[in-house]
Amino acid sequence: MVKTIKGYIWDSYIRFASQVIHRGDLNINHRNKRVCRIAIYHDISEKCLDNFEKQVKYYHNNYRILSLNDFIVELNEGTKEDNSALCLTFDDAYKSIYQNAAPILDKYKIKPCIFVPVGFIDGEDNQWYIRDNFKANIKGGAMSWEDLKSLINRGYEIGSHSWSHVDFGSKGIDYGYELADSRNHLQKMLGQKIKYFAFPFGMERNLSFEAINKVKEYNYSRCFSGIRRNPEKNDFLLPRTYINPYWNEKIIECVLAGYFDKKKEKVHE
Ligand SMILES: [Zn+2]
Repeated sequence: MVKTIKGYIWDSYIRFASQVIHRGDLNINHRNKRVCRIAIYHDISEKCLDNFEKQVKYYHNNYRILSLNDFIVELNEGTKEDNSALCLTFDDAYKSIYQNAAPILDKYKIKPCIFVPVGFIDGEDNQWYIRDNFKANIKGGAMSWEDLKSLINRGYEIGSHSWSHVDFGSKGIDYGYELADSRNHLQKMLGQKIKYFAFPFGMERNLSFEAINKVKEYNYSRCFSGIRRNPEKNDFLLPRTYINPYWNEKIIECVLAGYFDKKKEKVHE
C-alpha cells in the first residue's frame, strides 16, 4: 500500500514537472540531448493499450531501439555522441505482456527482454509478493512457459528476476535458490542460456554489495536495477528507467532525457 501511494505521488510529480518544462517556464533544451536508456515496463492492461501503442510509435520514430544484447555490446564498444539508443524491458512476465503488448511490439519489430520471477510462472502462492501482489491485483496473472517460448521464437530475450521476487536489500536471502536455481529452471524450461538478472524492486535500498557479488559469482554476465540513470560503459549493474504506460510522449521525452533522475544514493554494505 505504501509503495502504491509513493508510486502515485512520484507519477503526479513527473506529470506536473514535465508540464512546467514544456510550457517553457524552465529554460531546458533537451531536444538535442543524447538518450541511452533501458526502459522498464510491467503490466500492460487493456485500458492503457491505446496509449501504449502511441508510446511505441513515438519510440519507433525518435530513437534507435535495440535488443538488450545489442545495447550492451554497443555500450561497451562506445557510440557516437548523437547516437541515441533505447532498449525495452518488461519485468514480472505478466500475461498482459504476451496478450496485449507483444502484438504491438511485433508490428514495430521491437524485441524486448522479459525478466521472469520463476515462482510466478509456476503458479506458486507460498511467497507473499507473488500471492498478494501479482495474483491478487493483476488481471490475467502470469505468462505460461509456452507463452515465453513463443516470445523467444519471435526474438525476445529472457532474464531471471529471482525465484520468489524477494527484496535483496533484506536479510537472510537464499542466494542459491533466488539466483542459481531460478536461472537453471529457466534454462531447463526454455532450452536457452540465461545470462541476465534484474533485481526485484530495483532501488538502492533493494540491493547490496553482497547481492551484486553473488550475481557475479553465479556467472550472470550483467544485472539490472530500477534506478533512473544513463548506463555507463562496462557497468556490471546497469540502471533502468521506469516508464508508466499511461504517460504521454512529452513526459517520456523528459524522463528519457534524464530530467527526473534521482541523485545517487548509496547501496548498503
Ligand atoms: Zn518485479
